[in-house]
Amino acid sequence: MYASVDEFMQPVIEKHPGETEFHQAVREVAESILPILPQHPVFIEERILERMTEPERAVIFRVPWVDDQGKVQLNIGYRVQMNSAIGPYKGGLRFDKSVNLSILKFLAFEQVFKNSLTTLPMGGGKGGADFDPIGKSDREVMRFCQSLMTELVNYIGPDTDVPAGDIGVGAREIGFLYGQYRRMTKKFHGVLTGKGPEWGGSLIRPQATGYGVVYFASEMLAKNGDGIHGKTCLVSGAGNVAQHAVEKINQLGGKVIAMCDIKGAIYDPEGIDEDKLAWIKDLVYVKRGFLDQYAEHFKVEFRPGENVWQIPGAQLAFPCATQNELKLEDAKALVANGVELVCEGANMPSTPDAAQYLKQNGVLFAPGKAANAGGVAVSCLEMSQNAQHLYWSKEEVEGKLYDIMVNIHKNCMTTAEEYGEDGNYVAGANIAGFLRVARAMLSQGVV
Ligand code: NDP
Repeated sequence: MYASVDEFMQPVIEKHPGETEFHQAVREVAESILPILPQHPVFIEERILERMTEPERAVIFRVPWVDDQGKVQLNIGYRVQMNSAIGPYKGGLRFDKSVNLSILKFLAFEQVFKNSLTTLPMGGGKGGADFDPIGKSDREVMRFCQSLMTELVNYIGPDTDVPAGDIGVGAREIGFLYGQYRRMTKKFHGVLTGKGPEWGGSLIRPQATGYGVVYFASEMLAKNGDGIHGKTCLVSGAGNVAQHAVEKINQLGGKVIAMCDIKGAIYDPEGIDEDKLAWIKDLVYVKRGFLDQYAEHFKVEFRPGENVWQIPGAQLAFPCATQNELKLEDAKALVANGVELVCEGANMPSTPDAAQYLKQNGVLFAPGKAANAGGVAVSCLEMSQNAQHLYWSKEEVEGKLYDIMVNIHKNCMTTAEEYGEDGNYVAGANIAGFLRVARAMLSQGVV
């Protein structure tokens, strides 16, 4: 048994040098799991946690493609297959210039716990490429997706590994990827999720992560007899998760006064209502524009290069952009401005010191691996529909999503309580997610 988290982390850091995001994600889990291991000595003997930190497989491959000028471009493609003890690998593809092995390993590691929490049969994986879709034409994105899939096809399948979208991978990219997969395999089956509703996609999948985050926050507030209604909110990001979080906040009677993208933040004290949100959806997905155009159009304040966390007047905060976007100084501003709840829509958006500060200062804090699990849960529902050659109605899927989020919340709460960490969503999520995978690994021997 390890004397400290540092001792546990030492070989992880030595074996995976320079992978700072991966180290951060493993450390956060180890802080919750190491204290409970003495109650499960067999997990220590069988080195379950150590085995969980090592991907079952990671592939790295060349993705050459030709741009609109006829020039050859080159990117790196990845698929990290982290753990398949409870089901086929499942997790998104990210296209962003920042993508590297460390970021994908952290995401794949988080995905294992998240997928476990849904109680659905999904292992954890993640992939993507250091491809920057910004400024690329639709044809360039298509050629890139076709080249990536030409190699990725060797590692995925409906019972093996089922990728989905993530940052930079939305309906357009999933369409191009699926087209190439179908062409190469001559098979029409559920190998990707987030597909278009006309060709196998589940209704509510695009909305699922953002809606699920807000359902989770509602459950957190409901514990104290409170709710979203009448609350003012900050939401970071302007993409898939952020947009649908805003949509659900509006539906539940809350008001969102700020959003941001890589260019900066908008501050709209009147609130980003349904019509303004429709304008943002068109801006982001049709015009491929940025929020500075919103500020110009609706005559509101634009804060270039800034995030939303310093903006006063909100009670709830939803980080829905990217990892490590909410830093200690942001956490201090949130506390000083009276924010009561931070519910993570993105993966690991809060730095460890920020998360610690929020918790120490009485802010209700939910980690992404629990709060944003609605997306992957509905991806699994998409797989079920594909396998049965059926489509479920919007109401049916959203009803199931709601039930799943309520159950994840309950599971986090009861597990935290059982292990003496009452009210600690981070510990509850990590322990509950770990136990299911650990028991499966134990049953399946040393593999
Ligand atoms: P999108 O690409 O649709 O949107 C990401 C948004 O965040 C964009 O508006 C982007 O701005 C903004 N953004 C990215 N980096 C920064 C930054 N450093 N500062 C400010 N804004 C930034 O991605 P998703 O909405 O799909 O994903 C967002 C997060 O949610 C990620 O952490 C992802 O892993 C996580 N997640 C997503 C799920 C899903 O179903 N899509 C499921 C579970 C988790 P710009 O457009 O200007 O680059």
